[in-house]
Amino acid sequence: MNEILLCKYGELTLKGLNRGYFEKLLRRELQKRLKLAGNFSVTLAQSTIYVEPQDEDADIDEALRLCRKVFGITAVARAAVAEKEIGAIKETAKAYLPAYLKGHASFKADARRSDKRFPMTSPQISAEVGGAVLEACPRMKVSMQNPDVVVMTEIREEKAYIHAGSFQGAGGMPSGSNGKALLLLSGGIDSPVAGIMMAKRGVTLEAVHFESYPYTSDQAREKVLELARLMSEYCGKIRVHVVSLTHLQEVLRDSCDEEYFTLLLRRSMMRLAERVAEETYSQALITGESVGQVASQTMQALTVTDSVVKRPVFRPCIGMDKEEIVVLARRFGTFETSILPYEDCCTVFTPRHPKTRPDLDKVILQEQKYDASALEDEAFASRYTVDIDAYEGC
Ligand code: ATP
Ligand code: MG
Repeated sequence: MNEILLCKYGELTLKGLNRGYFEKLLRRELQKRLKLAGNFSVTLAQSTIYVEPQDEDADIDEALRLCRKVFGITAVARAAVAEKEIGAIKETAKAYLPAYLKGHASFKADARRSDKRFPMTSPQISAEVGGAVLEACPRMKVSMQNPDVVVMTEIREEKAYIHAGSFQGAGGMPSGSNGKALLLLSGGIDSPVAGIMMAKRGVTLEAVHFESYPYTSDQAREKVLELARLMSEYCGKIRVHVVSLTHLQEVLRDSCDEEYFTLLLRRSMMRLAERVAEETYSQALITGESVGQVASQTMQALTVTDSVVKRPVFRPCIGMDKEEIVVLARRFGTFETSILPYEDCCTVFTPRHPKTRPDLDKVILQEQKYDASALEDEAFASRYTVDIDAYEGC
């Protein structure tokens, strides 16, 4: 049985925009990633991208998994291919659909006919295919109102396609269609989710990770790189810039009033992130912050950290509860890695009573107690990059 994947994309989102360009991006992304599943052709017709195996070794299960992680694809149907003749369509339906109807009680047959030259109407096709399904699965009930499964026959230009419903795709907009931004990536739950949410809108990601070795460990760094790898299954290649804050944190600990430590550290992190953004042509910064989650995420604290950068700071988790962020982390597959218990530089030398309603003038006075600029130069000079790509070599 010949099988094919029909990838649908958000037509409405693309309308009026540069549709041809978006389609090209989507096709290119699919072509690249599908190499991991074997030899597939990727073609575009009638607002659908056709993914067809080219030989016996092409792994369609893996291809389906990969297609569902491509931003811009809203749904993927796995379908059987039949000649455009009702006898052949019914035979294919009888052979192909029972495996998908197993464990379900009711179905409805539907049809779409984009080739209007086909000699039957959509209701006629539905009735014929519905009859064929009942012959193959006599215990199934037909339910027009509330079916467990919708069996779909699509009559297209070349062939007919039969499937038992679509799988949800990742949605959003194609990778690379909306500029580039720099994610402040920690080893926590929130920042990987924030990055993937922005990538979903077509933003290309670059990441900066701050470490404080030996206060933070090699495992902590490996964990962050593994998070970047998991993210790259959705976002494509991510270049991670690793910056050492060890000396800066030690000086801060010894110089400032303890309650200001985290705020001052975060201001340095933002300034350093902006320097990396400048160097990498990233137009915005992204963090995983959420209002009120911790002391450094009150509105006053966010104002104090934002005041040191010019670029917009995107915080897609800002209005979300932790539980809601966790749901997304599980969906994106980052949760299990995020909860591995390694130190983050933000938890090294944490004050017992951090300021929750800081006053900007007082923060600036604290910052004058040490040479932030020289320490940031030193930290910036320590940076090195690691390229992470789940589709490397594709
Ligand atoms: P997360 O789960 O993302 O770590 P969090 O709730 O632990 O978030 P914080 O530790 O206060 O919150 O960090 C807030 C944000 O600051 C993070 O979401 C991330 O964007 C950034 N951040 C924190 N630590 C680092 C780090 N070591 N390197 C880069 N960015 C960081
Ligand atoms: Mg954190």
